[in-house]
Amino acid sequence: VVEHGVPDRTVKTTCAYCGVGCSFKAELKGNQVIRMVPDKDGKANHGHSCVKGRFAWGYASHADRITAPMIRDSIDEPWREVSWDEAIGFAATRLKATQAEHGRKSIGAISSSRCTIEEVWLVQRMVRAAFSNNNIDTCARVCHSPTGYGLKQTYGTSAGTQDFDSVEDADVILLIGANPTDAHPVFASQMKRRLREGAKLIVADPRAIDLVRTPHVEAAHHLALQPGTNVALVNALAHVAATEGLLDEDFVAERCETDSFADWIDFIRDDANSPEAAAAITGVPADDIRAAARLYAGGGKAAIYYGLGVTEHSQGSTMVMGMANLAMATGNIGRRGVGVNPLRGQNNVQGSCDMGSFPHEFPGYRHVSDDATRAIFETAWKRPQDAEPGLRIPNMFDEACGGTFKGLYVQGEDIAQSDPNTQHVEAALRALDILIVQDLFLNETARFAHVFLPGTSFLEKDGCFINAERRINRVRPAIPVKTGMAEWAVTQSLTLAMGYDETVFSSSAEIMDEIATLTPTFADVSHARLDRDGSVQWPCNEAAPQGTPIMHVDGFVRGKGHFVITKFVPTTERANRKFPLILTTGRILSQYNVGAQSRRTENARWHDEDVLELHPSDAEARGILDGHWVSVRSRKGETTLRARHSERMAPGVVYTTFHHPETGANVVTTENSDWATSCPEYKVTAVEVAPANHR
Ligand code: SF4
Repeated sequence: VVEHGVPDRTVKTTCAYCGVGCSFKAELKGNQVIRMVPDKDGKANHGHSCVKGRFAWGYASHADRITAPMIRDSIDEPWREVSWDEAIGFAATRLKATQAEHGRKSIGAISSSRCTIEEVWLVQRMVRAAFSNNNIDTCARVCHSPTGYGLKQTYGTSAGTQDFDSVEDADVILLIGANPTDAHPVFASQMKRRLREGAKLIVADPRAIDLVRTPHVEAAHHLALQPGTNVALVNALAHVAATEGLLDEDFVAERCETDSFADWIDFIRDDANSPEAAAAITGVPADDIRAAARLYAGGGKAAIYYGLGVTEHSQGSTMVMGMANLAMATGNIGRRGVGVNPLRGQNNVQGSCDMGSFPHEFPGYRHVSDDATRAIFETAWKRPQDAEPGLRIPNMFDEACGGTFKGLYVQGEDIAQSDPNTQHVEAALRALDILIVQDLFLNETARFAHVFLPGTSFLEKDGCFINAERRINRVRPAIPVKTGMAEWAVTQSLTLAMGYDETVFSSSAEIMDEIATLTPTFADVSHARLDRDGSVQWPCNEAAPQGTPIMHVDGFVRGKGHFVITKFVPTTERANRKFPLILTTGRILSQYNVGAQSRRTENARWHDEDVLELHPSDAEARGILDGHWVSVRSRKGETTLRARHSERMAPGVVYTTFHHPETGANVVTTENSDWATSCPEYKVTAVEVAPANHR
């Protein structure tokens, strides 16, 4: 891919990678993209971009793209290219036969955070109206579902509290379990600018990420905690604030529940949450915890930013609520420069959650057991709605292995690579009577599929992505749809073939209109408005016609802020003699998630394999040379990686990325998950590492 030529037109659109949601101008010559230029009017990126987004257009025209539908009777047979009608007819016939034989709850779907909100809307609508159940889940299950749960319990809505620009007013930044330099690079630059202006940084991470020490930025504190001990740390930070007179009593009295605060203050002041107790659990010296707490609670406006290093734990939801408690108790919520801010991994993970891609919630985070909400959707869709939550992704796998879940439609996700405990996932996929995969490429999951429906790249899509700051960004088609059918139209065709034909949409804009009609926080949103006025942050409705950059300004969405007791419970995944090291995972700047897209761009040159970082002392003890191959063995499985000695790691903790399928990091991860949401505990796996021959 070479950037060249003079464009004859430009199309404004949105990056398809991370949750920053940068705006770009796609420069085209005919129907060929020749360059992606960051848009200076983009409200999330202000004219900046990163090396991922700048070259993302490469994968859209990669030779691996599948552009024709394919079917096969069994997964041992070769694929047959067929027409769209035949593929959709085949899929619908099998799905209906499966329901006839095994019951209406025997099939379901997984939606994609890389698709637009309109595409996701149609998938959950198909499940609820045509499949007649709630077996719809999303890849947020494996990343930020604890954010949704935790922030809803405490504040009343499942979303980050601030816009990105709010960081420019922060005096103290508490960064927990996130590595924005690699994973959210444009926001990292904005954060670094603020740090260079004098804001103070606290990093809580087992690994010494770049922001701990980078040119002109040095963290005031690096709390290098043991993986799996976040909750003990955040409780200790709150303990110091509560016992040293650093709480914002006026804020708590005015804005928070009296009873839940009284219970919480008793809990948090207990010695079990002291810095000394936390030091014994986390490995972080008590004095460092105390100093960091004083800085957060007493250093001015303090903002929390966090990532998957918070959520992907057995106590992921507890940790989100622990951070929410801390922010409320210190009055760091509801104005610029403060807040609790999830850094979302995928471009539209906020949007896919907003669109009701959950087995227990309709769009707008309304529980399926709520009679009034069900009545709204029953009236609109003219089909009875199930009051029982459906299956989460891990339950789908379990029930597939048990023989009661038999049919699955997967939109734009490579669950065979991205979900934990690969052996179990593969067994589940093999057991299905019908697996339909919709994707750009024949991914790992497609090995088990009977129907492959080619998807469209972001350059072909018409719709919206919603970024980590709840910003609804337009995605506009720059090149013709290579598959002959827009992705939303594919889902609609399958819905029709399943026998549900109420309301046939003729455009993505019409789908947005249904979203606005049925989702109160989107009431004033339409494609026409976004095209006219630019992006907007939800809630955007009669009460907030210009959108909502900062939430919970005058009151929490739920009314009074709710404190939750966040007792630390150690994960069951422990190091022992046989598996003495703890493996944790993360991302690298040039690659995106499982790499299906970014490995098919210019970025492939910069990172062609995942490596295992380990401390030189751990390497020396095992005779592992820098750059040599090692086997990584856990209670679940074994993989082989190249070793890299790294002082970033504390002794006893090793680290890898997960961008390459041949690495198979999830071969070793466990089935442990968050107690509230089933989000997998990717960040804590006990392993042993030993020299190995090459793969
Ligand atoms: Fe922006 Fe993220 Fe895309 Fe980079 S990957 S250009 S930071 S949206």
